[in-house]
Amino acid sequence: MTQPTADQVRDELRQWLDDAWDPDLTVAEWWARLADGRWAVPMWPEEWHGRGYGSDLARVIDEGLREAGALGGPAGLGVLLAGPTISTHGTDDQKQRYLRPIVDGQEGWCQLFSEPGAGSDLASLQTKAARDGDEWVITGQKVWTSGGQTADLGMLIARTDVDLPKHQGITYFALPMDQPGVEVRPLREMTGRALFSEVFFDEARVRDDAIIGGLNNGWKVANTTLAYERAGLGGGGSGAGGGGFPGRKAGLLDARAGDLVAGVGRGRAVQPSAFGGSYALLQGIAEKLGRAGETVIRQRLAELYTLTEIGRMSARRGKAARAAGRGVGGEGNLAKLLMSRIIRISRDLGPAILGPEAMLTGEGTTGGGVVQEMTLFAPGPSIYGGTDEIQKNIIGERVLGLPKEPGPPKETPFRELKVGTQSA
Ligand SMILES: Cc1cc2nc3c(=O)[nH]c(=O)nc-3n(C[C@H](O)[C@H](O)[C@H](O)COP(=O)(O)OP(=O)(O)OC[C@H]3O[C@@H](n4cnc5c(N)ncnc54)[C@H](O)[C@@H]3O)c2cc1C
Repeated sequence: MTQPTADQVRDELRQWLDDAWDPDLTVAEWWARLADGRWAVPMWPEEWHGRGYGSDLARVIDEGLREAGALGGPAGLGVLLAGPTISTHGTDDQKQRYLRPIVDGQEGWCQLFSEPGAGSDLASLQTKAARDGDEWVITGQKVWTSGGQTADLGMLIARTDVDLPKHQGITYFALPMDQPGVEVRPLREMTGRALFSEVFFDEARVRDDAIIGGLNNGWKVANTTLAYERAGLGGGGSGAGGGGFPGRKAGLLDARAGDLVAGVGRGRAVQPSAFGGSYALLQGIAEKLGRAGETVIRQRLAELYTLTEIGRMSARRGKAARAAGRGVGGEGNLAKLLMSRIIRISRDLGPAILGPEAMLTGEGTTGGGVVQEMTLFAPGPSIYGGTDEIQKNIIGERVLGLPKEPGPPKETPFRELKVGTQSA
């Protein structure tokens, strides 16, 4: 499909906003309008509320909305992960059911993958799903569930057959979170926020028609979700969303859209995309404090700039190579590793520039507390979506063809594996 130019997109958006943007609308009304105009998720396919644009044009739309003072589309894991996964593996009925409420912000999603004994080795998961007529009964525990407290639906992977090898007996469900068998307990982290939760399932229920991608095919579907997670993080964000968290429980839908524009970015958890722009942020603060010329700070700013540019150009090169059928694989893993490096430099450089003020948080401090928040959040991105070590393992095994880690034969049924405390 031929893509319009950035100028054409900018003009079309500006004209549309002249009529459509009204700060007095509720957030729900504005997001519905944005969805109808197919501006909310421009990277999604045309038949599913998007425009089939690449990330460059999606960023043009982000900027256009910001410049016009209009609220961006819904953020969160529905747009980033659940939607693209359902687009890839869902039936047409599932796409009808789940995609529109993601795009217009009516439903928020969380990712129910990690367990206390299954993080890097995710396929060792033990949460069970047992069939009961046309429903499945879920028992077990998940952990580090980002946004679990406010989500309406969860991307759940659970074990449906212990007689199959561990990667094969897993199924992917769209689980309704608001039900008696689901208990969500927030976990507070060092940022002072509780971004994620533990989630306990005690005979929670999910319908058979909420299986995404077929029975016992959940590993493949989960890998699609993880690939979108890496690409989103490595690319410094998706160019989508940014207008606030969706769903009834998040509590924004009835707010005045105009009020939320001013609030976006303030008092909200730092987003991965913030790190993609950390050079501009830190360089600006260094200039303001008269420290940009200091040898060490200048050197580290140059390093940050160089790596950010390498990331941007590598993403474009990878995209062009894939389009020409010459992709080597591992581009997403490499992008995520590079972003981890950028984040570590930002984590060290921010406090070095701020000096003792780095210990103060909140508005009124230089940079509005963003550097402090980024510093405290910095360990996160190199862990979620697969740790740095796991990215290196994947590159080693799948791209460079190195031998696999030793372990039991792939065909061993899950029930015969010594995994955690499982008794299956
Ligand atoms: C901010 C944040 C948000 C998150 N959000 C979610 C979410 O919404 N949903 C969700 O399901 N999960 C989420 N997670 C969990 C995340 O996916 C896991 O923490 C991650 O996969 C690592 O698993 P683990 O914590 O069990 O660590 P482990 O797997 O126990 O790893 C511990 C250490 O050992 C290393 N290691 C493990 N195996 C190997 C190996 N084979 N080779 C070399 N080194 C190895 C790891 O790199 C790590 O350093 C989130 C995590 C964070 C930090």
